[in-house]
Amino acid sequence: MLKNFSYVRATSVDEAVEQLRAPGGRVHAGGTDLVGCLRDQVFEAERVVTISGIAGLKGIREQSGGGMRIGALTRVAQVAANPVIMERFTALGRAASEVGTPQLRNQGTLGGNLCQKTRCAYYRGPFPCRRKGGERCFAIEGNTEAHAIFGGGRCYMVHPSDTASALMALNATIGVQGPRGARTIPIDRFFVLPELDPTRETVLQQGEVVTEVILPPPGAGLRSSYRKVRMRRSWDFALAGVALALRKDSGGAVSDARVVFSGVAPAPWRSAATERVITGQRLTEDVVRRAADAAVAEADPMPDNAYKVDLLRAIVAQELAALA
Ligand SMILES: Cc1cc2nc3c(=O)[nH]c(=O)nc-3n(C[C@H](O)[C@H](O)[C@H](O)COP(=O)(O)OP(=O)(O)OC[C@H]3O[C@@H](n4cnc5c(N)ncnc54)[C@H](O)[C@@H]3O)c2cc1C
Repeated sequence: MLKNFSYVRATSVDEAVEQLRAPGGRVHAGGTDLVGCLRDQVFEAERVVTISGIAGLKGIREQSGGGMRIGALTRVAQVAANPVIMERFTALGRAASEVGTPQLRNQGTLGGNLCQKTRCAYYRGPFPCRRKGGERCFAIEGNTEAHAIFGGGRCYMVHPSDTASALMALNATIGVQGPRGARTIPIDRFFVLPELDPTRETVLQQGEVVTEVILPPPGAGLRSSYRKVRMRRSWDFALAGVALALRKDSGGAVSDARVVFSGVAPAPWRSAATERVITGQRLTEDVVRRAADAAVAEADPMPDNAYKVDLLRAIVAQELAALA
């Protein structure tokens, strides 16, 4: 049963931050994830502070130089439908269009998509797992079909967001406001792996609100993509996904690469090994094959999810070949 909490409609970010200072305060944006977590008693809230009416957090603004600033309350559907994003930052446009269902994309926000909780059945169920401050990861002796093949150890959840991997490939920065003022966090440092702290998904402190996502200018020749494989075609979270952002030099060799996986680790998983194989190389068949092998070389599958290794290797090869 849903436990009682107070509900505050913040009219400004300052007010939201003030209302969220005390432990037990939770941000509400579109509510598509938060309400389910509260109803299922995954965690509790003393006070739910909705930021949904703060106009300044909505909308997509182009910047001089070609970058973009996307307000945290921008609907996932608006990100997917924006033609400039689809052209300049294709990975993000495609990832947004792969999120859930049309209803979820129309209600869910970009900020909420980055801050949503894992769908691990043990975390979502009545299990006192490490992510809830308990002593065990129940997946280890349970069903591990949907779990991590990288970065596990203390917790084998997978990060559920499609847009997060795309934004990491595109080297985004997250704008945040909190009790100590505003700060920006490079997305490479936004997510927290279980080895550091299994009870947190992000570096956000109590009272901090994501205000915007900043995309740097793509520069000449950036090409990006997002590919997701899921159990069924209607809607589902990624079993495995890959976001690519590449630049090539005049000779066709990759001069700059960011390769990030979704659905296979507790945070968007940047693959330095894949980037090393392709950087400085033309994407020939041989390079693509070696890059795909490198992508999974350090995978550490669990009893039920070795299939993710083959799946990931295959989609990395296909996506690199498509960008070749
Ligand atoms: C059935 C279903 C299927 C889904 N499928 C997918 C999928 O395939 N891919 C995918 O990526 N996602 C998927 N989602 C997740 C969905 O996209 C997210 O629920 C949504 O994007 C979250 O946005 P929201 O605005 O509703 O967040 P809310 O539910 O309001 O919040 C989610 C969490 O983020 C925190 N939060 C929200 N906004 C902020 C902010 N600005 N600053 C700080 N904290 C904040 C909240 O406190 C809460 O903990 C699915 C969800 C459901 C229910």
